Amino acid sequence: MTEKWPMDRPLHVGVIGGGALGLSVAYRLAQAGAAVTILEKESIIGGLAASFPVGGAYLEKFYHHLFRSDRVITELIYELGLGDKLVWKKATTGNLIGGKIRRMDPIRILTSSVLPLSDRLRFFSAMAYLKLMSDYRRFEGITAVEWVEKHMGRQTYEVIWRPLFESKFGEHYRSIAMPWFWSRVYCRSLSLGYLRGGFHQLYVALEQRVRTLGGEIRTGQAVERIEAAPGGRVRVVAEGVATEFDRVVCTLPTRLFMKVTAGLPEDYRTRYDWGDFHGALCVILSLDRKFDDFYWLSINDPGFPFLVVVDHSNFMPVEDYGGQRLMYLGNYLPMTDRRFTMSDQELLDWYLPYLAKINPSFDRSWVKNAWVFKAPYAQPIVTVDYSQHIPPHETPIPGLFLANMFQVYPQDRGQNYSIQMGYRVADLALRARITSEAKVG
Ligand SMILES: Cc1cc2nc3c(=O)[nH]c(=O)nc-3n(C[C@H](O)[C@H](O)[C@H](O)COP(=O)(O)OP(=O)(O)OC[C@H]3O[C@@H](n4cnc5c(N)ncnc54)[C@H](O)[C@@H]3O)c2cc1C
Repeated sequence: MTEKWPMDRPLHVGVIGGGALGLSVAYRLAQAGAAVTILEKESIIGGLAASFPVGGAYLEKFYHHLFRSDRVITELIYELGLGDKLVWKKATTGNLIGGKIRRMDPIRILTSSVLPLSDRLRFFSAMAYLKLMSDYRRFEGITAVEWVEKHMGRQTYEVIWRPLFESKFGEHYRSIAMPWFWSRVYCRSLSLGYLRGGFHQLYVALEQRVRTLGGEIRTGQAVERIEAAPGGRVRVVAEGVATEFDRVVCTLPTRLFMKVTAGLPEDYRTRYDWGDFHGALCVILSLDRKFDDFYWLSINDPGFPFLVVVDHSNFMPVEDYGGQRLMYLGNYLPMTDRRFTMSDQELLDWYLPYLAKINPSFDRSWVKNAWVFKAPYAQPIVTVDYSQHIPPHETPIPGLFLANMFQVYPQDRGQNYSIQMGYRVADLALRARITSEAKVG
């Protein structure tokens, strides 16, 4: 828990970004008695986990679910009174390999014909080993490709993992850190969680709590500059208007933080303004009938323009969305990829014919509506030396803290980890003030 700030004037903290991280840091700070102001560029809160209205409910622009290990967000959901809406289900997952949908959970793979028996046994035992190994540090310095080839065999790597690594990380796939892959196995559960009616409710509830505690949320405020101000304060310029805060927590991606922050030392920039990121693109279809039985289908076959199909309607009841069947076609892509500048129509013309390769009876007439969402800085490229370049939360500018999903390691970023980091940095911002006061005294 955050500490109460024992001052007559509340600590004024600016929080840049109104996603999961910004909202949770603001919530904990406001609970501790700070006066918080969130500055969010978009007109709505939620960041990468934001939703749009559909069929009388809200759906995430990018598919979202929870794992059993996501304990911090689960506790927050209960704390905000939404626990009765959290549902857990074993979702049907598969991979498209050789034009066929294969169920690939570790038990089913033992009976699948996709690999020789000896490879299936190696796959199973390597997955079991990762599931039991709680310390990721033993995998530091090793690439996922090296480890998988060595412990699961070349064929398993080629058939199952290489296509998935390649479609998620593009040209960087060979250098992805083994600790990242470990976390994908160790931290993930077969049972998936979802907030029935959408995660939108979580962000709305957080927003309301922050406001009730006296916090201010300013949307449509793109921050253009952050700099040190006299008296140990931090100045933030958004839409041409400067505001000075006692403390600032910036939740922007590290690259954007570096762009807008003045006065950072060169050696800090060299070490931490580092690495590559992918953007995310999701096409969401509203279909008038069932496409298939799976919730999650990874595409291993080459040539597809999307890497995953997520059929939300095989996870949550269609009645929640006015009877609409909603299905995502998802991608992570370099931010220079032409798909980010293509029109929605061009994307649909390209993507839809591929659905018939999964279900030959699919016809375009099944699609009753479609939406396209694009976001930059959606996926860090977690290469072997990534951990050496994660900036600390305290920055060279006193009173300015950096907390973003690119500092999540080795786990793949997720709402849970942003919320957890938000709590941690709220504590840090409060303690920093106490320490500096103690010194003055
Ligand atoms: C395709 C996809 C699938 C995902 N699936 C899952 C999942 O299944 N489960 C899960 O838990 N997580 C999932 N995630 C990850 C999850 O969405 C993120 O980890 C989480 O939302 C990150 O929150 P954040 O606040 O750290 O960052 P963000 O959501 O990126 O928040 C940053 C905020 O800063 C704002 N901003 C940017 N520039 C400025 C500026 N100049 N001034 C002011 N504001 C600015 C942005 O608009 C944004 O609101 C997924 C993400 C993607 C892209």
